[in-house]
Formats: sequence, structure tokens, C-alpha cells
Amino acid sequence: MGSSWRWQLSRAMRLALWWCRLCCPQRGGRGGGDKLWTRGRLSELWSYGKVLLKSLYFNSLNNSDTLLDCAFEPVYWIVDNVTRWFGVVFVCLVILLTTSVVAIVYLFVLPTIFSTYPVHWVVWHLCYGHWLLIMVVFHYYKAATTSPGQPPKDKIHIPSVSICKKCITPKPARTHHCSICNMCVLKMDHHCPWLNNCVGHFNHRYFFSFCLYMMLGCIYCSISSRDMFLEAYSAIEVRLDDSSHFQSYYQTPPPAYTFRETTAHKSIVFLWVLTSSVAVALGGLTLWHAVLISRGETSVERHINRKETKRLKEKGKVFRNPYHHGKINNWKLLLGVEKKSHWVTRFLLPSSHLPCGDGIMWDSTVTRRDPMAI
Ligand SMILES: [Zn+2]
Ligand SMILES: [Zn+2]
Repeated sequence: MGSSWRWQLSRAMRLALWWCRLCCPQRGGRGGGDKLWTRGRLSELWSYGKVLLKSLYFNSLNNSDTLLDCAFEPVYWIVDNVTRWFGVVFVCLVILLTTSVVAIVYLFVLPTIFSTYPVHWVVWHLCYGHWLLIMVVFHYYKAATTSPGQPPKDKIHIPSVSICKKCITPKPARTHHCSICNMCVLKMDHHCPWLNNCVGHFNHRYFFSFCLYMMLGCIYCSISSRDMFLEAYSAIEVRLDDSSHFQSYYQTPPPAYTFRETTAHKSIVFLWVLTSSVAVALGGLTLWHAVLISRGETSVERHINRKETKRLKEKGKVFRNPYHHGKINNWKLLLGVEKKSHWVTRFLLPSSHLPCGDGIMWDSTVTRRDPMAI
């Protein structure tokens, strides 16, 4: 490292010397070709200046992306640290909001269901609601605490497609560096601030199942509390109207609600607004991830593959995703389904089985002759 610096410096000094020599006026007249000579010298000076500047930062691995990365390094550092710090806040927020929703359902929604619904509906609500709750808690815990997977640091001879410039370790196919976790992640999908963890090979299934069951849970809560929400909303509206009316004209006093009733109304409105909005937002995210899984792509690969498709199209070639094994097979690979009963035991029930493969070696559906994204 030290010798390379010394070499770079001596090269830069040599070029600087050349530059100075060119700048100094030489003796002897140039006759009528003075103008041409000056122009030629200026262009020579310009090109030497450029080489001199390049010699200060150039090495064989440099390109414009590396330069941009270097220039934006302080910005990335701030964003990474803020995201890392906000990750803890976001996890606390998810736990707090989910707990508040569950508490409201237990305190206000379930008692209403018990008192108004026939027995078979009550049983259905109890079973379905608790199944969703268990699935959400299990998958959130697993997604947040399971390591997404890293390439082995002690082994050098692993199948790799490149070297990570930050970790200085071989990078297997589908592996990408996460600057927030500051490590290479096997089959990296994205860094999720709501989990404060990267989504990769070993927790992709937990992440997707959490999104799916959380969305179903929110839909369940917003549908089952819809009537109660309408009642609570109109009660709050009437109370506000009446109190303003009473204050202005000293007429009929507002209906007297107990503290429990007022709390119930506000809680139900909070529950319905929160679960409906989360259901819509999470619905879009879950659908997007379902599309990606069906295509055998991760979020990172989506961008790479799109660029590759465009590049090959210009050359008259067609891009084929080497990790696409057909829609159903892609789902089976993600969920770890090997036989029919696994759809129940591994997808509809909490299961901590490992995903297919080690995240380092990947079966490719494309032969070497075919174009593929790296
Ligand atoms: Zn890395
Ligand atoms: Zn990460």
C-alpha cells in the first residue's frame, strides 16, 4: 500500500515537472508559425494537465461510479447511520402499534362479537383471529432475528462472480453488499427498516409471510370492526356537534357517555383507521413482492435485470433470468415446499425450516451461451 502511494506520488511529480517545462518559454524564434505553435502547445499543456490530474486518483479499478461513490461517501454515511438508528425506532413502533391493535380487539371488538354473533361465528372469529395473530408474531420475530446469511469469510474458494470492494471477500451470485448492515448478504432483497434487518436468503420467507399475514390481519380487523367504527364515528360526531350547539345556544346538553364508552369510541376509530391504511399500504407491498417471487427475482435483481434487458435488446438479444424456474417452482423454492402436505405444515402453520440451498450455489436455468445478468 505504502509503496504504491510513493509510486503514484513520484509519477505525479514527474508529470508536474513535464508540465512546468512545457509552460516555460523556450529559446529560439518560431518565425511565422508562432500562432500555430502556441495553439499546439496549449493543447499539449491541456492534455498533460488532464493526465496529471488523473494520475492523482487513477487505478485500474476506477470508473465514474467509484468517483461518484467517493464524492457522496459522507452523504451515504449519514443516511446509513440515520437508517440504522431509525431501525430500532421503527421496530419499537411496529411492536407498539400491533400491541395496541390486539389490546383494542380484546377489550372492545371481541366482547361485542361474543354478545351479538351466533356461536359458529364466534368460534370462527376466535380461530381465525388467533391463527393470524400467531402467524404475524412468529414471522415478525423470525424475520427480525434471523440472519439473512453472509458469504463464509474463512473460505476463499467459493463460487463467486466478483469481489466485494468493501468486505474484500468473494461475492457469490445474487449476493450484494448492504451498507447499513455493513456486510455482504446472500440473495439480498433489500434492507428493511421495519425489521431493522436485511432481507436475504435465510429470512426472505419469514419477511414475505409476515407481510402477507399482517395484511390479512389488518383486513380482518378493519372488516370485523367496520360497523363498530361507523357507530363510534357518528357518536363522536354527534357529541362534537351537540357540545358546540350547547355552548352556542345553551340548549339540549350532549348525550352523557361514560369514560369507558368514550375510550371505546376513540379506540375503535384509531383501530379502523390504522388497520385500513396499513392493509392498503402493505397490500401493495405484498403484491409487488409476490410478483417478484413469481418471476424468480429479488428487489435488487429487478433493477439489474431491467437494465440488462434494455442493454441486450439494443443488441438484438433477449434477456432470460437464470434463476426463474417457473412460477410454481419459484414459490416452492421460496417456501421450502417439497411435498403437498408442506403447503399446510410449512406455509399455513408456523415453521422454522431452512430454505432450499445454501445461498452460495444456485441452479441456473440458462446455459453459458445464453445472456445472463451478473
Ligand atoms: Zn460486502
Ligand atoms: Zn442491511
